[in-house]
Amino acid sequence: MATVVAPAADLQAGRDYPRTLTEFLEWFPDDHACWHYLLRLRWPDGFSCRHCGNDDYWLSRRRLLICTKCRKSTSVTAGTIFQDTHLPLLTWFQAGWLIATQKNGLSALALSRQLGISYKAAWTLEQKFRRAMVRPGRDADRLSGEIEVDETYVGGSRPGKRGRGAENKQIVIIAVECRKGDEERGLGRTRLRVIPDCTAHQLQSFICDTCEPGSIVSTDGHSGYLGISELGYLHDRNVLSSSPDPAHVTMPAVHIVASLFKRWLLGTHQGGHGSQHLETYLDEFVFHFNRRNSRNRGLLFYRLLELAVSVPPAGYEQIVWSRRPHATSPRLRGLPRTSPASLRRQARHEEPEKDIPF
Ligand SMILES: [Zn+2]
Repeated sequence: MATVVAPAADLQAGRDYPRTLTEFLEWFPDDHACWHYLLRLRWPDGFSCRHCGNDDYWLSRRRLLICTKCRKSTSVTAGTIFQDTHLPLLTWFQAGWLIATQKNGLSALALSRQLGISYKAAWTLEQKFRRAMVRPGRDADRLSGEIEVDETYVGGSRPGKRGRGAENKQIVIIAVECRKGDEERGLGRTRLRVIPDCTAHQLQSFICDTCEPGSIVSTDGHSGYLGISELGYLHDRNVLSSSPDPAHVTMPAVHIVASLFKRWLLGTHQGGHGSQHLETYLDEFVFHFNRRNSRNRGLLFYRLLELAVSVPPAGYEQIVWSRRPHATSPRLRGLPRTSPASLRRQARHEEPEKDIPF
């Protein structure tokens, strides 16, 4: 069970997080400075031994915190995404700064070039940060007000038929808060999820998980959405065949988000998603999208690191195959083992570089 993490409040730019790249470079000249920052992030109210609750410690030569009462040791990085890393903490911090402060994030290829590390190391590091982009307990903080919900189709190496049931593509369902008639400025928060099919069970489970009961939920006329009124929502059903307006006019907000997501995936990540990784890209997109109006990008760096020390570690094997704890790798299922699609593409030097801003 994930711990519900409440973001720290009363943060001050220049005191709790660097405001600019210049400040970032001043604050974090080496691993030692990064270690101290993590120490403060992990125990903002002071160290507390996880074994006995004692708040006093001494530091070993290997920078382990030894409890003065029970003598058990704790590492600052244990139980975080930084656990067992072979990369210097400074590299992690620099990557975190780049990922958080770039409005659209950046690709593993760009990250490897910026930091001078291998593509595989950059890809793994990015995947670990992506796992940290969903705040534990976020699901309890559901969308509210007027919400548009629709599905879109992503990926597929060959053209499939359009609409529900499209072949070679993954279905992504989107919910977005909106104020009708205000175009992009009226978009609120969004949630996205990969779903295996468009059955009523999948569509309505998503709505129940992401939308506050009592909200006005706009959908198209798909029968899978019938019945959400009984679940406590005010259902605004737009049957397109009986409407003179196309879908992007009837439900503009959700179509803007779908379009932005696809452009971002294609532009920042060259569409490079293995089927098992699409959900982590959704998480990164939502992280950036829901904070798109944040005035201080340094605060996003703080939030990312704050989440990074709250999310349990994952090994390369788990990251390669899935972020889902219950998923089993092909190797464990007796299937042939292959590299992630983006790593294979990199090996063939086929990854194009594009920069499509939004
Ligand atoms: Zn202790």
